[in-house]
Amino acid sequence: MNKSYQIETKCVQGGYRPGNGEPRQIPIVQSTTFRYETSTDMGKLFDLEASGYFYSRLQNPTCDTVAAKICEMEGGTAAMLTSSGQAASFYAVFNIASAGDHIVSSAAIYGGTYNLFAVTMKRMGIEFTFVNPDCTDEELEAAFRPNTKAVFGETIANPSLVVLDIERFARAAHAHGVPLIVDNTFATPVNCRPFEWGADIVTHSTTKYMDGHGAAVGGCIVDSGSFDWMAHADKFPGLTTPDDSYHGVVYAERFGNAGAFITKATAQLMRDFGSVQSPQSAFMLNLGLESLHVRMERHCANAAAIARYLESHEKIAWVNHPSLSSCKYHALAEKYMPRGTCGVISFGVKGGRAAAEAFMGNLTIAAIETHVADARSCCLHPASTTHRQMSDAELAAAGVPSDLVRLSCGLESSVDLIADIEQALARL
Ligand SMILES: *Cc1c(COP(=O)(O)O)cnc(C)c1O
Repeated sequence: MNKSYQIETKCVQGGYRPGNGEPRQIPIVQSTTFRYETSTDMGKLFDLEASGYFYSRLQNPTCDTVAAKICEMEGGTAAMLTSSGQAASFYAVFNIASAGDHIVSSAAIYGGTYNLFAVTMKRMGIEFTFVNPDCTDEELEAAFRPNTKAVFGETIANPSLVVLDIERFARAAHAHGVPLIVDNTFATPVNCRPFEWGADIVTHSTTKYMDGHGAAVGGCIVDSGSFDWMAHADKFPGLTTPDDSYHGVVYAERFGNAGAFITKATAQLMRDFGSVQSPQSAFMLNLGLESLHVRMERHCANAAAIARYLESHEKIAWVNHPSLSSCKYHALAEKYMPRGTCGVISFGVKGGRAAAEAFMGNLTIAAIETHVADARSCCLHPASTTHRQMSDAELAAAGVPSDLVRLSCGLESSVDLIADIEQALARL
């Protein structure tokens, strides 16, 4: 698709252009395997000498079509779908780091990602240094080690809503010859395209706004194609030296900066770990993508209206949404996300933990769910649910105080949502 098209056009028509008489909607290729005339034909696929399909654990046409759309939306050169956002984060890091390596990560990240990094990947021998995203340049600099292989952050952190200074983190990463990986789940490429600010790899939990209807768990990794692996060959031997499991292919040579990262992640990690998205889920994800630009606008408008309302309410201790001029991250949000940020707001109900739980129980429209970014409003108390494995100190470092209520504003009328919040607070 024409690269100069606006994001709206890419959401609706990216990734797929049917030929004469072909289906208008993307076909669901619900097949594990693909037929070949000769073993020689298939052998070329196994040697990565020809491109094509042979087994849906490695690649599937429906998944590739949807990945191509997200790739166009982000302005990247290659992309792959994964079974979940967790798989996307894991693959994105593990593709370039292994035992003995080190990663610098923002401390303001999704609880599941924090656990993946700090507990599970640590057990695999990869060390993580978590930095406060608002740290000084000197503190950020001090986090790097000779074996650092990447920097990781979230555009808008879930649930702290901390906005990452993408340019600053990209500059620090590049000064050390490593890529910046950004989880762009909350902003979506409709509101922010991290590659335009220097990020090298983008990950998504497509489970959130991209799907948008609470229907399918999924993830995606996109490569900007701008990181020069060969220029830092000693740091990234997996991309710059022969892969014995593929007859000595050197990914960065054979596929260039545009294709090396995703080809390696598909050929090695998807082959060995198998966290594939199903073609059915990819089809549903694509339905979500077709209206993403329309939905994001309403999610953001509802969140801004509710945040303003809560800010003036006497029973509310504090409100956080980057749309508020009182928000510490308002200026960064205006810079990186002028169209809006996300539909998730956080706030504290006066009376702390107990008041927050009572308030949530009084709501009738928003349901208590471990989810965000759904068409239906939902809310959560992270300290007693998703983040309950973290200590109070870790919660504070991640920007998730124990009185924090996370409200994901859906696509309902803001008039009804505000009236519901009003009665829930009145009954406290
Ligand atoms: C939900 C989420 C994830 C994990 O995604 P799953 O699809 O649930 O595995 C990662 N990052 C962010 C920012 C998220 O909100």
